[in-house]
Amino acid sequence: MKKIAILTSGGDAPGMNAAIRSAAKFAFYQGIEVFGVRRGYKGMVDNDIFKMTSSDVSGIIDRGGTVLLSARLPEFKDPEVRKIAAANLKAHEIEGLIVIGGDGSFHGADLLYKEHGIKVIGIPGTIDNDIIGTDFTIGYDTTLNIIIEAMVRLRDTATSHERTYLVEVMGRDAGDLALYASLAAGGDGFFIPEAKDTVQDIADVIKERRAMGKLHDIILVSEGVGSAYEIGNELKKIVDTELRITVLGHIQRGGSPSAFDRVLATKMGAKAVKELMAGESGMMICSESNKITTKFIDYAWNGIVDNTQKRKDIELAHILTK
Ligand code: ADP
Repeated sequence: MKKIAILTSGGDAPGMNAAIRSAAKFAFYQGIEVFGVRRGYKGMVDNDIFKMTSSDVSGIIDRGGTVLLSARLPEFKDPEVRKIAAANLKAHEIEGLIVIGGDGSFHGADLLYKEHGIKVIGIPGTIDNDIIGTDFTIGYDTTLNIIIEAMVRLRDTATSHERTYLVEVMGRDAGDLALYASLAAGGDGFFIPEAKDTVQDIADVIKERRAMGKLHDIILVSEGVGSAYEIGNELKKIVDTELRITVLGHIQRGGSPSAFDRVLATKMGAKAVKELMAGESGMMICSESNKITTKFIDYAWNGIVDNTQKRKDIELAHILTK
């Protein structure tokens, strides 16, 4: 394999740059030419493809976001649009493509491989940790740390004013960010898609806490269950507490990546190049029990969801919020 390309697609995640850097540097070391595609599949269709040099990846390991830029291109679901994208890659004689993104981006990669024979390897990059088959996705740990820091800050004002804070966090359909932030920062309750806590359950927790003399509550709301404002309106009807809502929004995914994300991204970036060099395609890089492994890329949406550990963690988190 002489020429490969790298793109980032879907929502940006801290650590994507570390993956780009590692893949590019590892490929340079192997004598492979590396191309960057700007704005994900949009740049592939627009032919915004450039030859990368080591200066493109220098000084980026500690930067959040993605230097290759990201975009969403819903039209990529159209085979005719993919045909244009594939032709542009082939015009540059690019044989292998590394796609850093979530499962939507992996769908696009899978189709490029199946329809046009472009060798693709996916690297899971999303703060949501919602890709089946990998224990962790790039960006998740950094975001978790940002949420924890926000909780610590909110707690000061929550205690001083004896308030209940509903803190809405990201995660799409996965409750990982809310659940593990709650475990890591001593949250007082959570609404996540994987658990069935009702507004009444949380109201009961708040009442119990007041009876125990606790002056404040920090409750995590995963965006997958709905808006913290709507939940807050329901909660206000059944419990007498001064309630405030904080939606952390995109603050959650900005800033320098954590050490964990940098190391994960660095290992995954190099592994993706190794897979392409070995002639592999249609695979995604995974992290399983602290080992870097590969799975068929469609495992991301066809794979078996194993929530055994998460269920235990939810049970523990329920006990600890009491
Ligand atoms: P993520 O990769 O984080 O899941 P999206 O779901 O927004 O983010 O997907 C990113 C991009 O991947 C989309 O804008 C589109 O270009 C492409 N994509 C998503 N789903 C598909 C699909 N089913 N077929 C082809 N391309 C897709």
